Amino acid sequence: MGVIGIDLGGTKIAAGVFSGGELRSRITVPTPEAGGQAVIEAMAKAAQTAMQEAGESAKAIGLGTPGPLDYTQGVIKFAPNIAGFTNFPIRDLLEKATGLKVYLENDANAAALAEHVLGAAKEASSSLFVTVSTGVGGGFVLDNRVLHGAHGQGAEVGHITVLPGGPLCGCGLDGCLEALATGPAMERMALAVYKTEVTTRELFARFEAKDPRAARIVLQAAHYAGIGLASLVKAFDPEVIVLGGGVALNAGPAYLEEVQRSYQRYMEGWIAPPIYMAKLGSEAGLLGAALTAGLEVGEV
Ligand SMILES: [Zn+2]
Repeated sequence: MGVIGIDLGGTKIAAGVFSGGELRSRITVPTPEAGGQAVIEAMAKAAQTAMQEAGESAKAIGLGTPGPLDYTQGVIKFAPNIAGFTNFPIRDLLEKATGLKVYLENDANAAALAEHVLGAAKEASSSLFVTVSTGVGGGFVLDNRVLHGAHGQGAEVGHITVLPGGPLCGCGLDGCLEALATGPAMERMALAVYKTEVTTRELFARFEAKDPRAARIVLQAAHYAGIGLASLVKAFDPEVIVLGGGVALNAGPAYLEEVQRSYQRYMEGWIAPPIYMAKLGSEAGLLGAALTAGLEVGEV
């Protein structure tokens, strides 16, 4: 008997049965646009299909979800990309729909847990995971436990201030790491420079072709990412950093060199833990969701 992992995203739901240290099935269905109860039903059905495909039943469900969570109440406080998910009692509703115990985790924390237990930080006792893509997310794991903090906002690493007075962030504050280092942040700068919309992917292509304007944008984003990592290391002191996400994994070696340069510069005089690249790719969320339940019920 295994556990089921469910990775709930704004556009798709991934589910799979995890047992004996690996995923025995993987299925993906679209996230119902109606939101709310329709999402619960889609997840329950996905869990059922995942068990059928694995030919195995499950002890519990681990659910990775976007948005800040109230872990005690099992409630999503809000998830901007899913309709009807404000103060939504997702844990109780999914338990009722499946008859299985449900363990909740924030999706970035779930990915952090997966990289810690099975991925790039496997050998470390503590790790800080940072993902740079359309947002900046992350999680801190110590001895297989994810830091939640007192208010469910532990390791919200995208919103550390790296440039007071800098561009405004989606959270309403100025100068957050997320407002400076992500794909959308670079696209904003590209629009100002090129006077036309340029996607992150196109920007990386121009950067590789040595376009000086693209280089300025991408290297500046890398610079802030490095500063962010250095600040986070001083707060958490992890054994290793795991860096993932579409920007970090696709921007190229010159981007990573700049991240390292600025990270080392702001770690001068301190012990700088190594930065490893994330290993599990898009499967980290699903694996981490499964591990969230697996670690609770002794199935890891
Ligand atoms: Zn912010």
